[in-house]
Amino acid sequence: MPAAAADGSDPSPDPALCPCGSGAVLEVCCRPILVGSREAETAEELMRSRFTAFALRDPEHLLASWDPGYRPTRRELSASLDDDLAWRRLAILDTEAGGPGDRTGVVEFVAIARGSQGKMRMHERSRFRRIAEHPGWVYIDGRMLD
Ligand SMILES: [Zn+2]
Repeated sequence: MPAAAADGSDPSPDPALCPCGSGAVLEVCCRPILVGSREAETAEELMRSRFTAFALRDPEHLLASWDPGYRPTRRELSASLDDDLAWRRLAILDTEAGGPGDRTGVVEFVAIARGSQGKMRMHERSRFRRIAEHPGWVYIDGRMLD
């Protein structure tokens, strides 16, 4: 029988699929962006790769893709990755600019995590900009919406 959990919990995600929910395999979706072999073409793509980095607890990509003027220290970031949250799902609600020909972009999303306190929902509208050097698109900051 398929694991349509009788206890109502989410079935375990297929580990080969990218955590960002694109439906593509991690190795061709966000992994090349995480390891720096490909740059995100759009702000949304960078947003997806950052969600995947949170899900995989990859501080390197998170720091590298953070606007240097807003980037937390490695210690601050590690503290936020050390919690018990398992990031499960990402839904992109809205985007403004952020395309291959744009200099700035906005991405609004909802991210769902599970932790010892139960389900956590984060709704944020994030600002991005493109810089001349690697990695191109970077995350500036975000405003929590609820
Ligand atoms: Zn992905």
